[in-house]
Amino acid sequence: MSFKSAYLQRVYEDVVKRNPAEPEFHQAVKEVLESFEPVVAKYPEYETNGIIDRIVEPERFVQFRVAWVDDAGKIQVNRGFRVQFNSAIGPYKGGLRLHPSVCSSVIKFLGFEQCFKNSLTGLPMGGGKGGSDFDPKGKSDGEIMRFCQAFMTELYRHIGPDTDVPAGDIGVGAREIGYMFGQYKRIRNEYVGVLTGKGLTFGGSLVRTQATGYGLCYFADEMLKCMKNDSFKGKTVVISGSGNVAIYACQKATELGAKVVTMSDSNGYVYDPNGINLDVVKQIKEVERGRIKEYAQRVSGAEYFDGCGGVWSVKCDIALPCATQNELNGEQAQTLINNGVMAVAEGANMPSTPEAIELFQKNNVLFAPAKASNAGGVATSGLEMCQNSMRYSWTFEEVDAKLKDIMVNIFHNAYNASKEFGDEGNLVMGANIAGFMKIAEAMKAQGVF
Ligand code: NDP
Repeated sequence: MSFKSAYLQRVYEDVVKRNPAEPEFHQAVKEVLESFEPVVAKYPEYETNGIIDRIVEPERFVQFRVAWVDDAGKIQVNRGFRVQFNSAIGPYKGGLRLHPSVCSSVIKFLGFEQCFKNSLTGLPMGGGKGGSDFDPKGKSDGEIMRFCQAFMTELYRHIGPDTDVPAGDIGVGAREIGYMFGQYKRIRNEYVGVLTGKGLTFGGSLVRTQATGYGLCYFADEMLKCMKNDSFKGKTVVISGSGNVAIYACQKATELGAKVVTMSDSNGYVYDPNGINLDVVKQIKEVERGRIKEYAQRVSGAEYFDGCGGVWSVKCDIALPCATQNELNGEQAQTLINNGVMAVAEGANMPSTPEAIELFQKNNVLFAPAKASNAGGVATSGLEMCQNSMRYSWTFEEVDAKLKDIMVNIFHNAYNASKEFGDEGNLVMGANIAGFMKIAEAMKAQGVF
């Protein structure tokens, strides 16, 4: 028996039975339900209203064929997904991931987490997620466009500005969102804010590109200030990944006075003792769509190492995992602890395994869970939706200030919930509970659905 509460135990067992062979989804549900022990003890009405039974079951799950023609004229077939997890507090909202590892388990884990994250932002957004097992690596621009058009040719019937508003995630940036937006507009003959992360010339919001990485650092800085009376200033930071989240986390951490010494991709990592030169990273990743290895060939003093997991062996004060799920395991967490890490803040979704989280918490390492610390991306997407509805746009400074406010509020809401429910400073528990309470109250008020 993993749970003290028989109710939580039963719900968890049902999830495992009903969703066989979906380990990522089970992992995400288990972590969230573990936080709910004091909630179900204090509020028995959540059991009588079946709130937790309902919250772990997606409202809708769509799987579809995506057929497209490659540059050689050959027909390719991929699988598309969209999970519409919970709409109690707003239209479904969550990114689209294009990566060969995408499957129902990954989409459900991401969609489930998204519900609590979106609730934490304080904006009216329900939870959803989607994507495809399409691998964008090595594809031409024409192939990316034809895939995105084929994907949207099915997805369009399930989404809408007041129904479900997808955004980017791994493998989906401004280019892919542009192709999908164009196809939606063509099919529906409607110019509406149905996707976020759009280009600035057609309804995108300033700061959306930077938002997840910036927001991560705003959250981590507030956590350092309030829990350790400290900051990024003078700290050595290790970052994994070299995509959208990693790049802008690196930029903001550097602006806040830290020295970032690593970046990685799925092949390996670079170590630059002088601090990462972000102009070089942006040229390689954003302009040339190349590999992080090339950084070491262009910057003197930097070294490249094969194997992305090695990044956690680099000594640092702060670690920001920004690549993908389960990229930081127990052994790697122990290495970070032995090397004196003081804080870990998650930029990616579920990058730390349960063993890693337990070790950080036992060793008094400040730990910021993804659903709180990486909520800046979706928060700014919420601000993009708001600007689209108003047919107006805010300046960079206005959006950035709102983003910072939201991240600071998320930290305090998670911290206060951890205190109220008896484990002060446990932000995993605090974020799960703070996100959950708002959804649970809305579900109770709206009757059984
Ligand atoms: P990108 O596609 O821009 O970059 C992903 C980065 O992670 C790349 O460096 C990639 O390396 C690496 N990566 C991906 N899969 C793996 C893997 N299996 N093993 C090792 N490295 C891997 O994605 P984002 O930066 O947008 O997303 C990164 C993480 O942040 C994801 O977990 C995403 O869900 C999360 N996130 C993103 C948000 C956003 O606004 N973009 C918002 C909130 C969360 P390679 O090129 O070798 O694949």
